[in-house]
Amino acid sequence: MSDSTNTVKNMDDIVALCRRRGFIWQSSEIYGGINGFWDYGPLGAQLKKNLKDAWWKDTITCPPIGPDGNPIQVVPVDTTIIMHPRVWEASGHVGGFNDPMVDCKETKSRYRLDQVEVLTVEGKGSWAFPQGDPDYISKKLKKAGGIKVDQGTVTNLEQIPVEDYATIIGPDTEKPGTLTEPRQFNLMFETYCGAIRNDDSKSYLRPETAQGIFTQFWNTVDTSRVKVPFGMAQMGKSFRNEVTPRNFTFRSREFEQMEIEFFIHPDEADTWYAYWRDLRFQWWQKVGLAGNNLTLREHDKAELAHYAKTGAGVCDVEYRFPFTAPGYGELEGVAHRSNFDLQAHANTCGKGDKMQYFDQEKNERYFPHVIEPSAGADRGTLALLCEAYTPTPDRKGAKAIMQFTPRMAPIKAGIFPLVNKDGMPEIAQKLYMQLREKHVVQLDVKQNIGKRYARMDEAGTPYCITVDGDTAGTQNVTIRDRDSLEQTTISLDKVGAFLDEKING
Ligand code: ATP
Repeated sequence: MSDSTNTVKNMDDIVALCRRRGFIWQSSEIYGGINGFWDYGPLGAQLKKNLKDAWWKDTITCPPIGPDGNPIQVVPVDTTIIMHPRVWEASGHVGGFNDPMVDCKETKSRYRLDQVEVLTVEGKGSWAFPQGDPDYISKKLKKAGGIKVDQGTVTNLEQIPVEDYATIIGPDTEKPGTLTEPRQFNLMFETYCGAIRNDDSKSYLRPETAQGIFTQFWNTVDTSRVKVPFGMAQMGKSFRNEVTPRNFTFRSREFEQMEIEFFIHPDEADTWYAYWRDLRFQWWQKVGLAGNNLTLREHDKAELAHYAKTGAGVCDVEYRFPFTAPGYGELEGVAHRSNFDLQAHANTCGKGDKMQYFDQEKNERYFPHVIEPSAGADRGTLALLCEAYTPTPDRKGAKAIMQFTPRMAPIKAGIFPLVNKDGMPEIAQKLYMQLREKHVVQLDVKQNIGKRYARMDEAGTPYCITVDGDTAGTQNVTIRDRDSLEQTTISLDKVGAFLDEKING
């Protein structure tokens, strides 16, 4: 894979490649786009699916070995986006899914308090800017007379007393004192079920997939013969009316989550928390984020959510995106959520302790605790794109190659007849028809071979298979490796096994 040691890649170049090659586009682009919503083009849709398929396989159909030496048990569910509104009362989202916001009185822009930083230069002034966006502040400082970022100190707006806001120049203004004091803002999208719009028909688009799992815990136990410890997993869309969607797909208003709730006996929380923390970190490495850009960060007790204060721990798997560097951005959180959710649903629906789980072996009733590894498919896909992006100024045709692992690569192999005559297209077509039964492969017969290689390099295709003038006689083709450029001769009937080995091996 690419040498990711402390590399800071240019995000604009990555976004441009994503757009040009059909990885990611703005939603509704022909109408000017809509802030916080993104579409995946042909290559991006396949890349994201590969990530989700890997998660599904490695979590549900082929789960890892647990601390007791046996494969762990995780079952899937697929629950609705709109749920009974009381779900969100029980989960605390109606009352508590609020982020403090500050508004700008002049521009009417709204910012999340914890995502604004302030640069203070003694004797010159204080400038607020969106967190992790050094370009933004540099441009602004240029206008303010060439002040340099390193001349001052940077503090999160959360740490600054409201009385001092009067001296701060807001992110999108030129004069100080336009930021309001922080106010709460609920991030859930509201909607209405049925023809009449009133408080009774009000419902919400889910802000996380987890609550669908918790509310179906009891049906799952009753119908699936699962026993604690076991997990339930779900992937699907979630919606948050983020105040400042930004950094490409990193903070979107519609995004996809891959969540596991692993139900355990309360006494075993430490063991299972450590197990899932390490497992999830290793999984992200396995799908291609193997370098120094990936890190695991344990939270301080002070920053823990309401449900996790007394738990075994909370950590984030984080990736150093070009726009967060030298800092990191969260890909997945792993949290011991105690029995907060099951207990809250049991109480809110009115059945209380009757809904406790009965452990036959221990002859004990209790609400199981939960270890929750909660990952984002879009942030994961974005990290794969950033990690894979490798500028190649010395390689003809392609500005960059995308060094995805074979398992993640959207197209596993390009199949080319060297020229479109002498039986070569027919052999290539036959090989394509065979290989596509098992793998995503592409037959490319247009333009010269150099251009075809360049197209595949930018798409991140690890192998290009060429049928040449000798193939009809020798039954051999050549396979070119995207990264090393090595060409290997291999017999036609071994190409399938070669790909199987590289992709799954
Ligand atoms: P953040 O602090 O960045 O807002 P969070 O801690 O609120 O994230 P969780 O509620 O733990 O996020 O959600 C689990 C995962 O869902 C995150 O690790 C992330 O990958 C993904 N996710 C959350 N919010 C968004 C978003 N607005 N856009 C894209 N992915 C998101």
